[in-house]
Formats: sequence, C-alpha cells, structure tokens
Amino acid sequence: MINRTIALARYKGTFEQPDIFGYYGTFGGAFIPEMLYPNVEELKSNYLNIIYEEGFQREFRALLKDYVGRPSPLYHAKRLSEKHGATLFLKREDLNHTGAHKINNTIGQLLLAKRLGKHRIIAETGAGQHGVATATVCALMNMKCVVYMGEKDIERQAPNVARMKMLGAEVIPATSGSKTLKDATNEAIRDWINNPVDTHYIIGSVVGPHPYPDMVARFQSIISEEMRWQLKEHTGNEMPTHVVACVGGGSNAAGAFYHYLEDFSVQLVAVEAAGCGVTSGRSAATTQLGKPGILHGSKSLVMQTADGQVVEPHSISAGLDYPGIGPLHAHLFATGRALFLSATDKEAIDAAFELTRLEGIIPALESAHAIAGLNKMKLTAKDTVIVCLSGRGDKDMAAYMAAMGNE
Ligand SMILES: *Cc1c(COP(=O)(O)O)cnc(C)c1O
Repeated sequence: MINRTIALARYKGTFEQPDIFGYYGTFGGAFIPEMLYPNVEELKSNYLNIIYEEGFQREFRALLKDYVGRPSPLYHAKRLSEKHGATLFLKREDLNHTGAHKINNTIGQLLLAKRLGKHRIIAETGAGQHGVATATVCALMNMKCVVYMGEKDIERQAPNVARMKMLGAEVIPATSGSKTLKDATNEAIRDWINNPVDTHYIIGSVVGPHPYPDMVARFQSIISEEMRWQLKEHTGNEMPTHVVACVGGGSNAAGAFYHYLEDFSVQLVAVEAAGCGVTSGRSAATTQLGKPGILHGSKSLVMQTADGQVVEPHSISAGLDYPGIGPLHAHLFATGRALFLSATDKEAIDAAFELTRLEGIIPALESAHAIAGLNKMKLTAKDTVIVCLSGRGDKDMAAYMAAMGNE
C-alpha cells in the first residue's frame, strides 16, 4: 500500500484525473463500509484496463453511434445568439436515445459489467431518469435489472416507473426514512453487499466512491470529445471561450468540460439549482451552501446542518435536486477552475420558454438552468459559447403546463 504523501507527490496536478486514491485535490476518496471493499476494489483494479481495451472501445463506440445516435449535433442557435450578443452553440444531448446524456454512462458501465462476468445490474433512481437509462441497456444486453426507488418517488414519477417495468426491470420501493433517493441508495448498497459476486451497481452521476466519479466522467467525456471537432467544423477553431452546463451530481458537466479541463483559455461555467433562492432554505446550490463532508462514499461539498446531518434540498428539476456534488466539481470550485452560478426555479422555467420560442427546442428543466445561466454572464460579440443541452423536456411537460396556467 502506497501512502498518501507519496501518492500526492505522484499526482500530476491535472484536473482530468484523480490520484490513485481517487482524490481531486482534497475531495474524493472511497468512504465505504468494510463489507463493500471487495466490490469496489475489483472495480478499481480493473476499470481502466477494461475500458481502454480495443474491443471494448469498438463495442462502446458502435453502440454510441448506432443505438444512441451519436455524435449528437452541435447546433448553432442563431436567435439565442442574437439575444445574448455572442455566438452560441447547443450540444444536443437531448437528441440521444432516451432523451438525455445518461445513456452514455449506462452503456459504458454495462459493457464493463459484462467483462467483469456480472449477470445482474442494480441501480437507484430518484426521478427515474437514471433508472430508465439503466433498464434500457439491460433490455438491450439481456441483463437482469433491479432498480431501487423511494416509495414517495414511485408515486410522483409514475410514467418513468411504467417505462422501467415495460423494459423488464424490477422496481423495488425503498420504504424507510424519507422514502426518497437517499433511502433508495441505502437499499442498493445493502443489495450490493449481499450480492458481491454476480452484481454490478451502476451509479448514474460523477458521485460515489472512487473509481465511480472518474469512470463516469470518462464515459461522459464523449460529449466534449465531439464538441472539439464539431466546433472546429463550424468555426475553424476547436476552442470556445465558454462551456456551460447544469450540475446536479455533475455528469453532463463533467462530460462537457472533460477535454477542456487543461485548456485554461476556456472558461468553464457550472450552473446549480437555486430552487426558491439560494438563501430561501429551499435550494440545491451545493457550492454556495455546502461544507466539506462525506456523502455516498466520497468527500465533497455537502449541504448539511451544523452537526453534519444532510439537509433536504429543493429544486423544481428532479435531476438537480441533490444535496451534494461530485468531487471533481468540488475541486473545480475550490480551485476556481470553473465558475459556479445558480438559477432559481422561476429563472429556469423562463429560460425553458425562451429557448422554446426562440429555437423550437423544449429543454429538460435541468438543461434550462444552463440556459438561464447565460443571463448572468457578461458576454460580448467575441465570445463563442457551448451550452450542454443535457436532455429534452417531454418529461417536464406537467411543470411547463402548470407554468402556462400561471401566465
Ligand atoms: C439527471 C439529469 C441531470 C443531472 O445529472 P448530472 O449528473 O448533473 O448531469 C441533468 N440533466 C438531465 C436532462 C438529467 O436527466
């Protein structure tokens, strides 16, 4: 075992990868119960070898192309550009199969699970988006799929529960505690401890113990890999001045930032959910409100009370309604490498309507936060901005209809 001092000395200081203990600066690591150690260790010692193996890459890229529909377009949004007085591009993750970026990661992890000899997949889901992306690839690859979901969330997210069941997944309600995402996470971890040999646990964002944050970021990095050549095709230059993305756990932002992390001329902008307002007591703006703490197996910024109890977050957007943030993002915040903004529920709704009326694109409520972030940036005619449009708005029509009723 190499100690941390030596490991830190070896740390090249890049933002792209954590040290061998999974730390980005002071954030990350693997804080797990002893009984989970063999599972996490198996993953840690194999993931890099497996995912950079030629056969893996061939299969992964073929599925991204023919099944997901990649590359997703980089669209020059002319009317939105006019409004902001800059050149704006949208990275259209909303056009992926199942309607968001999450499938990039679930395909990668399923191919990895198969190569580790696993026959069963478990996942936890809050709003159901990650559950649907997981159930989808399990159907595709004939893998048994169990999704844990809080009892309360099952009631609130009936259409996604129906999708998961139609796809052949077993949806198990978590009935303890607040009956929401964190309770579903506890159930999934319990399952993994009890089934260490045949089961792989698919985490849906750049959170969790090392190596999950790094692994998920690598799978999602296809987003910025494409951005670079696509922007060059459009403008002759692969460097934008800004890349903007919303942050829940941070996987679409990690994917959109990844291949620009070491290019310091590119301003990275993360937009968090302010809910009813950062200081309202009903918010999910983790970097503004959080303190260092441990959540879901890694050290990061966490919204918590003075004695360390996790605070219930709020956002109109289910995908951003999370009291933590991935350790990479905590590091990008702490070092100032990325600028962190926030948008309220109302600002996100307004931005969704604006994008719809200007460009004919109905965004997911999560992605609408990134669009709202543009209003808080001082853009000029010299700026070329890429916004990651992480998902489409079909799932959010009830919220949009309610907003129209209020207009
Ligand atoms: C889940 C989700 C998010 C938030 O997750 P990240 O890991 O922060 O990307 C954002 N947008 C959409 C459309 C989602 O479904």
